[in-house]
Amino acid sequence: MARLYDSRKRILVTGGAGFIGSHLIDKLLEQGHEVLCLDNLFTGTKRNIDHLHGNPRFEFMRHDVTFPLYVEVDEIYNLACPASPIHYQHDPVQTTKTSVHGAINMLGLAKRLRCKIFQASTSEVYGDPHVHPQPEEYWGNVNPIGTRSCYDEGKRCAETLFFDYHRQHGLDIKVARIFNTYGPRMHHADGRVVSNFIVQALSGRPITIYGDGSQTRSFCYVDDLVEGFIRFMESDKHIVGPINLGNPGEFTILELAEKVIELTGKGSELVFEDLPADDPRQRQPEITRARNLLGWEPTIHLAKGLQSTVEYFERLLPDLIRT
Ligand code: NAD
Ligand code: UDP
Ligand code: UDP
Repeated sequence: MARLYDSRKRILVTGGAGFIGSHLIDKLLEQGHEVLCLDNLFTGTKRNIDHLHGNPRFEFMRHDVTFPLYVEVDEIYNLACPASPIHYQHDPVQTTKTSVHGAINMLGLAKRLRCKIFQASTSEVYGDPHVHPQPEEYWGNVNPIGTRSCYDEGKRCAETLFFDYHRQHGLDIKVARIFNTYGPRMHHADGRVVSNFIVQALSGRPITIYGDGSQTRSFCYVDDLVEGFIRFMESDKHIVGPINLGNPGEFTILELAEKVIELTGKGSELVFEDLPADDPRQRQPEITRARNLLGWEPTIHLAKGLQSTVEYFERLLPDLIRT
């Protein structure tokens, strides 16, 4: 116990009331740390952190990362940013500000405190890739003026800022490029494919396939991802990234729909709708770097991860219908 106390850190998680952030906080608290969860509750919800109420090592602060923040912490995980197209396109200017001003403020904070800082970047920095699967050396194929650009270019600029603070100010940075992640506490109405399909199937509605469903994605279960974050944060100082974190198992959207139908036991029909603009054809992480540098790879198969996600939505849906 004494050793646990000695190594206890005070850790800031921005975007902590969101899907991934709330799982990260659970894990950090489980390890004995103190957590300051910062969120403006734009897409996150107090429901995701309700179970932490009363934990003396947990603190919630409602704050927008685009404004300066003066707190004292030992480590920063910067996750604040709407992550799904519906959410990040709702107020695209604010999305870019969150990535860029948010990064500047959190980097300024890390510079003052001389503490480690982790950035949740994204596979979207590769855009609609010409290289498949995508290694970290690939610079991407991103439209700078499209409807996804506020997210993609915002995250790219945040990466630039992280690497410049590293080179210019010697900051200890950790930049992870996250690929599609799923699991309990995903937002039920953010339009992402896993939550959409599960909610549609459970509520007996048709499953909406955009395009012909032959586009691919690779889905990582949230517990695997969080393990990758923590290993990365704890890695040697010279390991700064970018490092891809994702599950290399690649599935077509049609295959995902079939799995959801099988797991929910509902006979939902499939309906085909238009493919959104700039929708990438294929996406699969190349995770050799994560394997070699962090000794990390995903362990949870899609069928198992989907099962817990379906169970979460089965519990949540009655509440949503009531409210
Ligand atoms: P999420 O929307 O559930 O969580 C994001 C959180 O950030 C929310 O709680 C939201 O309220 C908060 N937030 C947004 N703008 C803010 C602001 N200006 N100030 C303070 N808080 C703000 O999304 P998520 O899926 O948990 O994503 C977490 C991070 O991981 C994001 O940075 C996202 O870009 C990145 N990411 C996620 C995925 C994925 O598949 N889920 C993939 C790649 C990258
Ligand atoms: N900042 C912050 N908390 C701090 C230190 C800085 O929010 O503890 C913000 C502040 O708004 C500043 C930004 O981070 O503008 C960048 O800080 P930096 O020291 O790099 O730049 P400067 O203050 O010189 O503009
Ligand atoms: N998609 C779909 N039906 C839906 C929601 C999404 O076919 O109801 C498709 C979408 O067009 C994309 C893929 O599923 O090709 C993944 O979409 P998501 O928004 O989850 O993630 P991203 O496009 O950001 O990878």
